[in-house]
Amino acid sequence: MQIISPPKIITGLYHSLEWKMPACSQKKIYLSFDDGPTPSVTDFVLNELNKMNAKATFFCIGVNIEKHKELFRELIAEGHQVGNHTQHHLNGWKTCTEKYVQDIEACKEAIGQNGYEHQGKLLFRPPYGKITRQQIKAVKSEYRIVMWSILSYDWLPERHTGQCLNNVVSHLKNDAVVVMHDSLKASVIIKKTLPSLLQICKDKGYELGII
Ligand SMILES: [Zn+2]
Repeated sequence: MQIISPPKIITGLYHSLEWKMPACSQKKIYLSFDDGPTPSVTDFVLNELNKMNAKATFFCIGVNIEKHKELFRELIAEGHQVGNHTQHHLNGWKTCTEKYVQDIEACKEAIGQNGYEHQGKLLFRPPYGKITRQQIKAVKSEYRIVMWSILSYDWLPERHTGQCLNNVVSHLKNDAVVVMHDSLKASVIIKKTLPSLLQICKDKGYELGII
């Protein structure tokens, strides 16, 4: 079974992480794209967001930023927000805290050296959503650790057409943080899903904001 919204027991246990955005008076949701930048996927996402005049947050992997600098700069130039997703997409549960923090630092350097200036406290999302309590403690003074309220499962093959779109739309509500991926693994599903999702968000009157 796909767990689309994290259960309260998890969000309660890890309450120092951000699972949704604070309530605001506007109808607003927050799209996020993890694991890029990836040629032919990130450009597609940027183009679709641009058509709708929508902004999103991209949790980038440091090595991908270094490999695809132009694409990263394009993402910044279009006014999207960037968050840290480690340099090598590390699984926190399988990595010691010292190495984990170093890898986050390397990603921070890749982000800064390629022209991104962040407003306010930096953003971090742990790859696979896996981070230990010790790592949280080590990271949280410098970063807002942003999780999600809706997991799209865009990286898995659909069991029926429109499954990914339905995962998101059926859980959409104000202040939701949606996770999608601008990765090769998700490219087929994201190309099918994102245009319809953006249209539905617009039709439902949601503004798409940055975290
Ligand atoms: Zn990831």
